[in-house]
Parts: sequence; structure tokens; C-alpha cells
Amino acid sequence: MPTPSTLAALRAFVAERDWDQFHSPENLAKSISIEAAELLELYQWGGTPDQQRVEEELADVVTYCIHLANKLGVDLDEIVMRKLDSTAAKYPVHLAKGRMTKYTELQQESDEEE
Ligand SMILES: [Mg+2]
Repeated sequence: MPTPSTLAALRAFVAERDWDQFHSPENLAKSISIEAAELLELYQWGGTPDQQRVEEELADVVTYCIHLANKLGVDLDEIVMRKLDSTAAKYPVHLAKGRMTKYTELQQESDEEE
């Protein structure tokens, strides 16, 4: 998902600092959540947050996601597409279009119609 040059830059950044030793899957998963909270904090009290701060926190989240995918040896495109297929099956267009109803309720409605 990241371009080869972005991936190389991220790997070089970590290698130069000898930080891979700190990048356990657990630490990276925690970091994703922490950075996601920092992103969410920008929206805490409503209003429009500073675009640059949003971009910075979004980049932090994505960066840790990339590091975790690398650590786990998984291909981000592959797992995202696999999950998209799974989610598409849960949310068929004819039931979910324009609605934000959870898939379990959509399925229930669909069963009741039959
Ligand atoms: Mg941050």
C-alpha cells in the first residue's frame, strides 16, 4: 500500500535509530491506538481542527499500521481487500445503501422479509 520509496524511508528511519527492538506487535498495536486517540482528540470539542494537525496525526496512525503490517509479514493491500470482501458480504448494497444500520440488524430485517 505504501509506495516502495515510502516504505524504504520508514525502514531507514527505524534502522538508523535502532528502534526495531522496540517495535513488538504489542507496542505497535498500542501505538496505533494512541495515535488514533490523538487524531480523535483534535475533534474532541467539535469545530474544524487545524488541517495540518489532522494530517500529522493521520500520518502517525498510518505509519504505525505500516510498521505493524511489516512486523507481522502481511501485505496491507491483501488484508484490506480480504476484509473489504468480508464487509461487503455483511453489507449487501440492496440492504445497506444509504443506511448506517449494523449488519446484524440488516440480516435480521432480511430474514423477517423472507
Ligand atoms: Mg501523534
